[in-house]
Amino acid sequence: MVWPNNTPPQRDGDANAGIDVTDDFEGFAQRNDIFTRAFWDDRVISKHSAKFFASYRMEAAPRRGDGFSRRDFALRNASWLISDMVSNRTADQGLRQGFQAPIQSDTPVADETIEVDDPTQMSAEIKRIAKFFGADLCGVTDLDERWLYTSRVDTRDMTDAPHDLPEGLTNVIVLGHEMDEELVATYPSALAGAATGREYSHEASIVMQLAAYIRNLGYEAVPSMNDTGLVIPYAVKAGLGEYARNQMVITPEFGPRLRFSKIFTNLPLSHDSANPKGVRDFCDICTKCATACPVKALPFGPPEVGGSNVSAIKGVRKWTSDAEKCFSFWAKLSSDCAICMRVCPFNRDYTKPQHRLWLKLALSPLRHLALRLSKSHGARKKPGGWWTKNAN
Ligand code: SF4
Ligand code: SF4
Repeated sequence: MVWPNNTPPQRDGDANAGIDVTDDFEGFAQRNDIFTRAFWDDRVISKHSAKFFASYRMEAAPRRGDGFSRRDFALRNASWLISDMVSNRTADQGLRQGFQAPIQSDTPVADETIEVDDPTQMSAEIKRIAKFFGADLCGVTDLDERWLYTSRVDTRDMTDAPHDLPEGLTNVIVLGHEMDEELVATYPSALAGAATGREYSHEASIVMQLAAYIRNLGYEAVPSMNDTGLVIPYAVKAGLGEYARNQMVITPEFGPRLRFSKIFTNLPLSHDSANPKGVRDFCDICTKCATACPVKALPFGPPEVGGSNVSAIKGVRKWTSDAEKCFSFWAKLSSDCAICMRVCPFNRDYTKPQHRLWLKLALSPLRHLALRLSKSHGARKKPGGWWTKNAN
């Protein structure tokens, strides 16, 4: 296939960091994303999936004891509030912003455009502003059209619809948002889901504010969360981390314990590049996430092209989950699961010197030793303990 003009040839770094595109590559339609299929595909829709989505309203939240009490669901559902407000504001037009449509900006693009003589300096400035608004990581890459969805979804009838992105966007700013370590330690639980919801709400406000800053400078900027394109390959290309067996991007700062958002823009910016440090080699000898997955949705072998159902992108050699199995577990739980994030040996607090030392070991030829040292790492903490600790 012919790549779009603004897509540079694939660098070895992208492949070594876990995104290895083959000649059989096909763009991905968001309609086939597992969460979208849960609204139109009988292979995914079930009584459990209906209860899963309903549980984000308190009257439909189940009660199942520790981690799934009324307080746990109350915190989780409250943590999603800002994200929900953004995504629901044009739901009647079939535009679920941040999930099945880009976020609409309230700030017009200023008539006067500031001159950017030095894109490297401008990238540094954007990273500083991203941090100011609350992002934990920020990288910049080119708008590689392979990772844009081939179509978005009109949520009124779940049909394909165009993105309607403005013309001339060339860059993607990728932002990372750290999830709360103590809450992640309680996965699976509705309480842990508050770590997810809080970051979606953070993402929504941070991408909107950073995009508003760029628009005030006279450039186009489209804030985006899970909509419009696959954020994982953009995060890898922007040098934020490496793709891993658990389907996540592992970063040196937070391991896999974060979420990503993005901004599409024509602001002149210099680009970061994929920065493989050896996560792939570690995942080759570690299968903790695949072993811990209750429904065996993660692969044990080497990265492969394709996957077991239509939710897998075609023509990319990588570790691919069985998204149908994974979502079926979420649905039964009435909450998101990230056991595969919790148990990952890279899920650590890297502000502590002993964990920084472990990271060095894990990314060195002594990785087997690092794996042995991680044997009991990532054990589940009782959700009730989180409430008791904070009560004291
Ligand atoms: S999120 Fe849970 S069910 Fe899905 S792959 Fe990870 S461990 Fe398995
Ligand atoms: S648990 Fe092990 S195999 Fe899975 S992503 Fe983490 S390091 Fe890789």
